[in-house]
Amino acid sequence: MSIGDTIPLLTLITALHPGIVAVCAGAIGACVGSFLNVCIHRLPKGQSVVTPSSRCACGEPIPFWLNLPLLGWVILRGKANCCGAKISVRYPVIELLTALAFAAAIVYLPTSKALIGWVFLSLLILLSACDLEEMLVPDAPNFALVGLGLAFSILTPSLQGESSELVDLTNRLHALSDSLFGIAVGTATVWWIRTIATAVMGQEAMGEADIILCAGVGAFCGWQGALFCLFGGAVIGVILKLPSLLRISSPRKGSESVPFVPSMAIAATLWFFKGPVLVSAWFEWVGY
Ligand SMILES: [Zn+2]
Repeated sequence: MSIGDTIPLLTLITALHPGIVAVCAGAIGACVGSFLNVCIHRLPKGQSVVTPSSRCACGEPIPFWLNLPLLGWVILRGKANCCGAKISVRYPVIELLTALAFAAAIVYLPTSKALIGWVFLSLLILLSACDLEEMLVPDAPNFALVGLGLAFSILTPSLQGESSELVDLTNRLHALSDSLFGIAVGTATVWWIRTIATAVMGQEAMGEADIILCAGVGAFCGWQGALFCLFGGAVIGVILKLPSLLRISSPRKGSESVPFVPSMAIAATLWFFKGPVLVSAWFEWVGY
């Protein structure tokens, strides 16, 4: 039995109109995005994500009706009610992104994989935003990615491409070994590239967070996913960096390094939704 068979609610979800399902998933995603915003703000500073309740930078608690995901920011038009301070556009952007990710997962993926995807994509959004905003990737959600990838592989072996029809111990062990191998490949590949690049460039290339992230993607997506996350992430990183590389004026200080976590997260998301299709399209394109 996989997660998909054990929860009758999932059968109900699948029976509903896809539009209703997408809207509900989006609403849940927006709420989760709202919590992610709290985590993005507090985790890199080592603060608790549970207490105290949401408050403005001036210290005033924010009433729940102004804290509604997406709507709160729109009602306030980006300005705090208490002191008029500007509220970062990051808040509605994260909420919208999470809402779209949740809706896309439930529409395009089998239900059990979609629910796992909600956890996977939420963690990727959290880690990317921390890297972009603070240049500091917290360890806890990064290691959680690795642990949860292993756990979900055992619970729902179809995550690793095992049959979802007949799930037995053999299936679970296969999925577990795929997940472990993904972690090993992800860790080893980034570690080697990091070591060589650091030696060649004479300064630290990539961070430990990149190793853990790639291991986590390997835990969820297997070894091919880990490799795609790394090399696809590098390509995406270069594409995102192109505008500032082409700019003739001297780049402002600090814009030298590319936050690699968001690029890897985009690649991992592509793989989670369309992995095998991407590979066969590639082989077709290069003429195999
Ligand atoms: Zn305030």
